[in-house]
Amino acid sequence: MTLSREILVYHSDHYDLPLPEGHRFPMEKYKRVRKALTEANIIRSENIQRAPLAKKEDILLVHTETYYHAIEFGTLEARDQRKIGFPWSDVMLNRSRASVGGFLAAVDSALINGVSGNLSGGTHHSFPDRGEGFCVFNDFAVAAKKLIKEKNFQNILVIDLDVHQGNGNAAILTPLEEVFVVSMHGASNYPYIKPSSDWDIPLEDNTSDEVYLENLDYILQKLSLRSWDIILYQAGVDPLKEDKLGRLSLSHVGLYQRDYRVLKFAKERNIPIALGLGGGYSLPIDHTVEAHLNTYKAVASLYNL
Ligand SMILES: [Zn+2]
Repeated sequence: MTLSREILVYHSDHYDLPLPEGHRFPMEKYKRVRKALTEANIIRSENIQRAPLAKKEDILLVHTETYYHAIEFGTLEARDQRKIGFPWSDVMLNRSRASVGGFLAAVDSALINGVSGNLSGGTHHSFPDRGEGFCVFNDFAVAAKKLIKEKNFQNILVIDLDVHQGNGNAAILTPLEEVFVVSMHGASNYPYIKPSSDWDIPLEDNTSDEVYLENLDYILQKLSLRSWDIILYQAGVDPLKEDKLGRLSLSHVGLYQRDYRVLKFAKERNIPIALGLGGGYSLPIDHTVEAHLNTYKAVASLYNL
């Protein structure tokens, strides 16, 4: 099972952000996911491409000059830097730019080949003038604004199935007529203040595969009533039962089914789909790596012609 030669994914894990000992962010997952994808023969190594750095002018489609400048030069207030959750460094700047650049490249590639993904990102907690929850710049918001500006897209669908509600996406994208944001997430999870998405589906703690997938089928059925130019899919794997920051109880099979159903929805309707990796905080990290791998197994099983 190998992806067709034309399907490309993007990585930026050469920007290995140095973190203090014991930091809870699983930085190593990015390299491990990339390695696992090639070792499992799901994606050819030559099809995993280095994410380009996003241009400042693209990032400024969403973010304020003041905020960009502070991230560029490391002059953010200590309090605001702590909210992001990473210490500032040159590497943090480049990693954040590459994370957006990788998603923009995945969007371009999806428009040509039907599907593509970025092996990082899904930074849905980032706002125009601030970041939080390990999110510096908002990749999905930059991509959506660029598609509206450059391609005049009028029907952009954001499907966000990370266990955390995309408060940044909701704040930036929901007011835009051209974008429809759907978020299914843990009701009692971070962020505790959740600005409204176009459609929020909050789930109770310990939600099972069965209830989760029933909700998803209902969502997809409703979404099938409209036509879409592209789907931007935040495929965070933190709804997994083993996740230490999630509060839901999905199994690996349930998560695979989730991704398969979203991808099948896109493929059957010829809607290009670009994937962002999203969250995943299992201990040990192996569960997270396996779950991200399964997302791309679903891609391979549907798009491998
Ligand atoms: Zn998350």
